[in-house]
Amino acid sequence: MKVVVVGAGISGCVCAYRLAEQGHDVVLVEKGRGVGGRMSTRRMAGARIDHGAQFFTVRDSRMKDLLRKWQSMEAVTPWYDSIAGREDIPKSIRYRGINGMTAPAKALAKSFSFQKKFFVDSIFFDEEWQINEKGGGNRKLFADHLVLTLPVPQMLELFQRSQFELESKVMDQLEAVRYTRCLALLGILDRPSSLSSPGTITHPTTEIDWISDNHVKGTSPIPACTVHAVDSYSQQFWDAPDEERGPLLVGVAEECLNAKITEWKCHRWGFAKPLVTFGATQYTSAWDRLSLAGDSFGGERIENAAMSGWDAAQAIIDQI
Ligand SMILES: Cc1cc2nc3c(=O)[nH]c(=O)nc-3n(C[C@H](O)[C@H](O)[C@H](O)COP(=O)(O)OP(=O)(O)OC[C@H]3O[C@@H](n4cnc5c(N)ncnc54)[C@H](O)[C@@H]3O)c2cc1C
Repeated sequence: MKVVVVGAGISGCVCAYRLAEQGHDVVLVEKGRGVGGRMSTRRMAGARIDHGAQFFTVRDSRMKDLLRKWQSMEAVTPWYDSIAGREDIPKSIRYRGINGMTAPAKALAKSFSFQKKFFVDSIFFDEEWQINEKGGGNRKLFADHLVLTLPVPQMLELFQRSQFELESKVMDQLEAVRYTRCLALLGILDRPSSLSSPGTITHPTTEIDWISDNHVKGTSPIPACTVHAVDSYSQQFWDAPDEERGPLLVGVAEECLNAKITEWKCHRWGFAKPLVTFGATQYTSAWDRLSLAGDSFGGERIENAAMSGWDAAQAIIDQI
């Protein structure tokens, strides 16, 4: 069966990988330049910085299967399971990608065909699915089954552009999905920070969720930090220029890391973590030959998004 999966975050990659493993002809398309989605690693001034998701957990037995695959491909490694003096943080192993958080998605992408810089502008069903690229449609794909793994608000925009709707009960569930926002700051440090392994600080002030040193983490060859602002700060300064929203984050990070930030930039995550999810780990309609997955369905966190992609693939396999 020909399947097109839209969105190369972890849910799309896991779904495409599982379907390809079963012998289906799978193409994954992504508007960005590579796979990973919110598991994103940026290069900046010689540093490698994880600026979205920082680690993943492995609880589900299917996630353990994926972990074994990633470890055999030398894509991931354990990062930490506890932080000295922080007994409030649940003890369980956090894993990170080797050379950055995109590594697990990159490893899966070896199993299927991938088309990057393909912004899906519209979808259309007439005996089979037609998937059209933005801007006059240089690229058009056709599929027996379509899987969408975008955050639901972006999925609804795609539906609107395509004048497509599902039954009203499902549309109501989709329209209820809500996300937090996150303003991230990426910075280069003038010297090694004072953090010891694992190189993270959580909630140092009311404005900040997370600070990490990507060098101590093992991702960056030089000291470089990631700062994640809390939802309220991110909402407040969403449209402010960097000169207005950055300095407070820089100031707190410099104090916590005991180093100066010599260069920095901000990134906006419009769909950081789902506050309200769909209510099922995935949605598949045999009638519409359509599946929907991602963390809007599985819930916050990489593992839940990955398992949503897995469940969608299984629902498709079960219906053939
Ligand atoms: C700042 C931040 C920190 C986080 N920290 C953690 C953490 O430490 N641990 C953890 O477990 N989770 C964390 N999360 C959550 C985790 O990153 C997500 O739950 C998970 O990565 C979501 O995967 P996904 O596949 O559902 O979506 P995504 O990764 O968002 O993938 C969707 C993809 O669809 C693409 N797309 C969108 N529209 C189109 C279109 N029209 N055409 C083509 N492609 C399109 C996007 O570019 C994207 O690549 C964090 C998230 C953020 C933002």
